[in-house]
Amino acid sequence: MDGCIFCMIVRGEIPAKKVLEDDLIIAFDDIAPQAPVHTLIVSREHHAHIGDDVPEVLRSAMMGAVPRVAEAKGIASSGYRTIINTGPDAQQSVHHLHLHVMGGRRMAAGMVSFEEGR
Ligand code: AMP
Repeated sequence: MDGCIFCMIVRGEIPAKKVLEDDLIIAFDDIAPQAPVHTLIVSREHHAHIGDDVPEVLRSAMMGAVPRVAEAKGIASSGYRTIINTGPDAQQSVHHLHLHVMGGRRMAAGMVSFEEGR
């Protein structure tokens, strides 16, 4: 899709620090990591989010890539968090289906924080 930053990475038009890839997905390190390990698993095909009409085989490929990314990044046994932000309340900022794999340091308890007054 024109103007989509992740489509540009998929097409090789802008660089990314690739972790692994296959026919359906590409995984690369987040440009603004929020954990010592912060890797994105991105669908090659453009879909806005997980609530889009995503083929089951692609959903499955994305989930299947999670342990492979964790292994490649050396966090399989220490543990990691997997996040899919969807829509405005989740602060999704890139509207191309992707999943975050984050780890490399012990996280605090509690999974989310909310904006003041909302
Ligand atoms: P989300 O807020 O769930 O849509 O996540 C989008 C993520 O993409 C953010 O964590 C950004 O830091 C990351 N990001 C944006 N542009 C790039 C890029 N060119 N290369 C790698 N990661 C990116």
